[in-house]
Amino acid sequence: MKLVRHGPAGAEKPGLIDASGALRDLSGVVTDIGPATLGRDSMSRLARLDATTLPRVPPGTRLGACVGGVGNVIGIGLNYADHAAEAGLKPPGQPIVFNKHNGAISGPNDDVWLPPGAQKLDWEVELGIVIGERAFHVGEAEALDCVAGYCLVNDVSERAYQMEYEGQWVKGKSYPTHCPIGPWLVTPDELGDPQDVDLWLEVNGQRRQSGSTRTMIFGVKTIVSYLSRFMVLLPGDVIPTGTPPGVGMGHKPPLYLKAGDVMRLGGRGLGEQRQTVVASPAG
Ligand code: ZN
Repeated sequence: MKLVRHGPAGAEKPGLIDASGALRDLSGVVTDIGPATLGRDSMSRLARLDATTLPRVPPGTRLGACVGGVGNVIGIGLNYADHAAEAGLKPPGQPIVFNKHNGAISGPNDDVWLPPGAQKLDWEVELGIVIGERAFHVGEAEALDCVAGYCLVNDVSERAYQMEYEGQWVKGKSYPTHCPIGPWLVTPDELGDPQDVDLWLEVNGQRRQSGSTRTMIFGVKTIVSYLSRFMVLLPGDVIPTGTPPGVGMGHKPPLYLKAGDVMRLGGRGLGEQRQTVVASPAG
């Protein structure tokens, strides 16, 4: 099953993608795709629906982030050894964890804002985990039971804010529009093995990232179990799991985004995103 949210920003409605690829409206069934809908019971009710009975949504309708009401976006850093090497950092012995403010969330094809004066705006294609059930001190064997599904995330990052402004990475990870999520949440049964997802990203038609979740240092079940020792993961929390090599910072000389650049990214079973970089509004 593939769940989406469609409509204008801030007024998205729930929907799904049917077997033929058409977008269908779920507003007669649930109020949103979010914390209240992502639990096991609710998800199995949705899976039993006959999608052909749902109203069709016109093609071309905007898609929002595929999860609404996200409480926390908890990122995993340097989770691919080859990406750690290009960042000039040694692979971590334990997962590196950072916060991405939920005000950064945007739709998969919305514009990405270049902050005023920013010179080090960068891309990161990632597999995102969407939590469906409360997870607190869960072992690796139970960790995947807490996962509602997966989605594509572009963990857009401003490297000066992240690496040069001292303190935590959150400053470089949280600008509005710097967390495109979607186009859809794909359920675990449909995605198959989350440790076998090819990921890619292009800037202006040039391939910049190619990788696979096969080479993650810490896999999905390890990440969920590990995080649940330090915090309670709640339904609707999203966990971007780290990026494969090829980010702008890793090029010699580094390559960063400017207004007018277009990013396209995708992953097996996760769909595609497309964003244009534009100057940020001031307020
Ligand atoms: Zn990242």
